Amino acid sequence: MSIRVGSGHDSHRLKAGRPLILGGVRIPHDRGLDGHSDADVVLHALTDAILGALAQGDIGDLFPDTDPRNKDADSVLFLNAALTRLTESGYALGNIDVTIFAQEPKLGAAKATIRASLAMLTNVPVDAVSVKAKTGEKVGHIGRAEAIACHATILIHKRDEGTA
Ligand code: MG
Repeated sequence: MSIRVGSGHDSHRLKAGRPLILGGVRIPHDRGLDGHSDADVVLHALTDAILGALAQGDIGDLFPDTDPRNKDADSVLFLNAALTRLTESGYALGNIDVTIFAQEPKLGAAKATIRASLAMLTNVPVDAVSVKAKTGEKVGHIGRAEAIACHATILIHKRDEGTA
């Protein structure tokens, strides 16, 4: 069976006056992530994981932050562009495993909502989507709640070969 793995990482600074959007879900918080687009670290990490598995560059190659069209862009657009490339390459997503690093807000209650959102956005069954959350143990830029980061790992397989 033809399978590949991909990994992606992203981080953005927390800033007052911005909405906090993680995995396409608006999370209630007094600050949000700063960036050229909507700064959804989860979708950015997932998009890079897909591009990584395909060996087709990274999100910055496809959507440069110097392009005004990407200003405040909904990161679902970036994910969909990677999913289109995936389909055009004859692959399908097998599973998604995501870890979000956030000291604040606590994401325990939001994990299930983010998981359902990722399943919906990718058309992967929810039982093949994992969303985990870690704090920064109050150390470093994550632990001081200055930023939120995300790591995504995925498996893709040739579409006609099914999942294991
Ligand atoms: Mg990003």
